[in-house]
Amino acid sequence: MFPRMKFAVLPTPVQRLPRLSEALGGPELLIKRDDLTGLAFGGNKTRKLEYLMADALTQRADLVLTTGALQSNHCRQTAAAAARAGIQAVLVLVGDPPADPSANLLLDQLLGAKVIWTDQAGREQALEEQIQQAKADGRKPYLIPYGGSNYLGAYAYLEGMRELQAQLGEPDPAAEDEAGPDRPPAGLPDWIVFATSSGGTQAGLTAGISNQDLNLRILGISVDESQSALKPRVIDLADQVLDRTGSAANLDHSLVEISDQYRGEGYAVMGEQEVEAIRTFAELEGILLDPVYTGRAAAGLIDLIRQGKFEPEQKVLFWHTGGTPALFADVYQDDLLT
Ligand SMILES: *Cc1c(COP(=O)(O)O)cnc(C)c1O
Repeated sequence: MFPRMKFAVLPTPVQRLPRLSEALGGPELLIKRDDLTGLAFGGNKTRKLEYLMADALTQRADLVLTTGALQSNHCRQTAAAAARAGIQAVLVLVGDPPADPSANLLLDQLLGAKVIWTDQAGREQALEEQIQQAKADGRKPYLIPYGGSNYLGAYAYLEGMRELQAQLGEPDPAAEDEAGPDRPPAGLPDWIVFATSSGGTQAGLTAGISNQDLNLRILGISVDESQSALKPRVIDLADQVLDRTGSAANLDHSLVEISDQYRGEGYAVMGEQEVEAIRTFAELEGILLDPVYTGRAAAGLIDLIRQGKFEPEQKVLFWHTGGTPALFADVYQDDLLT
């Protein structure tokens, strides 16, 4: 459909979470491991970057720019994707340069990216200056949007939904004998729950459900935005994905469900709920979540299960979107260990 570079390890596994399901006494829980997409610690941006980086190369770019927070997973994966494509990455990060770069920021530098610091208000101007500078240097820059969330990036999650459908479709009877205890039960889940922020992942999943006419619901746990701000963006992006792919499907707007109840003290501030979720997944399932996105989304999921949002006979899939390097950021150490 669109040019694609292949650097993700796909399909990512779908696994059962039996101990977590039992401990919470709710629905059957599954997890889709997009923390294992394989590019420099993986995450959801890797899927998006397969299309974005291919588009950059199609346009003969020799430098990509993008922007994000100090511990941006998107920027770290962009730096790695640029390395794989053999071109320069310029990252415009919002914040003050810390004395000791840790976690994603350390990786950005190992991956050869050039890091430029700015504040929130100066972000657009800093990007523009870098673009002009690159052109003046005789280079051909390509701007990757915030979070990798334009129609191309979001399209990757339409493909992700196809991948899930293929994985959980009716099992091949011949393969049944080899099914181990970790093999997920056949059939799509009733719900998918995941962290949502710039909305590209949610838009792609929503477009996929409409396009493939699937019978399931998805709930984005907002990490930073109010649902009234985010919902129209997700709808607009999902519409663009369907348009650009020439899909005849109509987007069902009621599919776009967002909870903004779990934003706590704000973006990247890890609270008790996130710590509890991170510990619970780690201790019961040996799965690592991150302090900013998946820890928050899992905290939302755990709370919703406790509130009885899901029926006991339902299946709920937590789509792990990555971010685990942020566990090693200095700012979280004390709270993770108390
Ligand atoms: C970027 C990111 C998200 C949010 O994805 P969007 O497509 O921007 O909504 C969720 N989890 C992690 C770990 C991320 O890095």
